[in-house]
Amino acid sequence: MSPDLLDARLADARAEASTLDAADPLRAHRSLFVGSETSLVYFDGNSLGRPLRATAESVGAFVRDEWGGRLIRGWDERWMSQPFELGDLLGRVALGAAPAQTVIGDSTTVLLYKLLRAAFDHAHAVDPERVEIVVDRDNFPTDRFLVEGVAAERGGRVRWIEAPRDGGVTADLLASALGPSTAVVLLSHVAYRSGHMADAAALTGLAHDAGALIVWDLCHSAGSVPVQADAWGFDLAVGCTYKYLGGGPGSPAFAYVATRWQDVLTQPIQGWMGAADVFAMGPEYEPAPGVRRFLSGTPPITGMLALRDTLPLLGEVGIDAVRAKSVALTSFAVRLADTLLPGVSVASPRDAAARGGHVTLTHPAMREVTARLWEQDVIPDYRDPGGLRMGLSPLSTSFAEVVEGVVAIAGALEAVALGR
Ligand SMILES: *Cc1c(COP(=O)(O)O)cnc(C)c1O
Repeated sequence: MSPDLLDARLADARAEASTLDAADPLRAHRSLFVGSETSLVYFDGNSLGRPLRATAESVGAFVRDEWGGRLIRGWDERWMSQPFELGDLLGRVALGAAPAQTVIGDSTTVLLYKLLRAAFDHAHAVDPERVEIVVDRDNFPTDRFLVEGVAAERGGRVRWIEAPRDGGVTADLLASALGPSTAVVLLSHVAYRSGHMADAAALTGLAHDAGALIVWDLCHSAGSVPVQADAWGFDLAVGCTYKYLGGGPGSPAFAYVATRWQDVLTQPIQGWMGAADVFAMGPEYEPAPGVRRFLSGTPPITGMLALRDTLPLLGEVGIDAVRAKSVALTSFAVRLADTLLPGVSVASPRDAAARGGHVTLTHPAMREVTARLWEQDVIPDYRDPGGLRMGLSPLSTSFAEVVEGVVAIAGALEAVALGR
């Protein structure tokens, strides 16, 4: 591309960004986030959302008044019910889940293990022919590793789906993996690499038609795309709170267990917090009724604090408004990649309806490009092979930020090509 043409395209892109920012109904929300006043470009809201300014205050107040002031009384007064209250709120604002089905608990990995094993054991007990766990080869590592581990531990086997790297699991692909030996299916709603968004309602229906249970990984969905866990007939789901939900580094994950399964399934980490009478200190484990039985140990209250601020904000804005801006941001990013980044491929679905909240751009130099960008305070992330991910968090990302980030990518690609 000639320098003149590039300059003209860049001027057009900046003009379009300022029009889009001016018309953006969520533009005022950006200033609620720490760091939004700087020129840093943040494309990693899909891995670790920015903190709210309000959280800097509320965490201090928690230490001073709640922990420091109430001390052990805090458990009775607020903390014992916190995993359920925040779970209900999360279910309402992000998951389409009626109350008493969502709980904040352990890490995503641990909750996935508990629910996957509970589902496998149930399906296998009802019908011993059901020994297969279906998962796709491109699912997130923890998901694949857990499936292999549970299969090995419980005498099951893995049935792999081969999905395209720049797409994801479709109805046809899932249908061909299902059968009378399927016990449980584990899929990501939005694929971590490509951003492909699966048709969760249709795939859930297919799993059920085959007599299997399905566990949804909602890590890249919760707080980014609308989910209708109840209406889509989900059995079980797990997701992170530190990605689009802004819970902070290592904040605990959530589990959704449909009411109909709560008293049927038993999970493998039997701890006192999941017992029917927590303080009975009885001789034997008896699981609590309801969603409490999916807890194991003491809830990580300090890890949930930021969610007290981010979930009400999401509720106020509404997930549909978040999704509308997300579609606008990712569509803009795809257009900019096409016009300003020759030689770079878009490895995410081009159809916005089949895409979640991030866009992956591939080029052999992207690992080095990402490292250079981080030094310039432009923060995407890198996933093999050759994928730079632009995670665009609707509440904290502006269209101008998207342009400046793409310009920086173009500059870094050129510098790498010229060996500078
Ligand atoms: C981020 C992510 C995880 C992370 O699991 P942790 O236990 O929180 O480390 C799991 N699955 C998917 C699909 C993810 O995107």
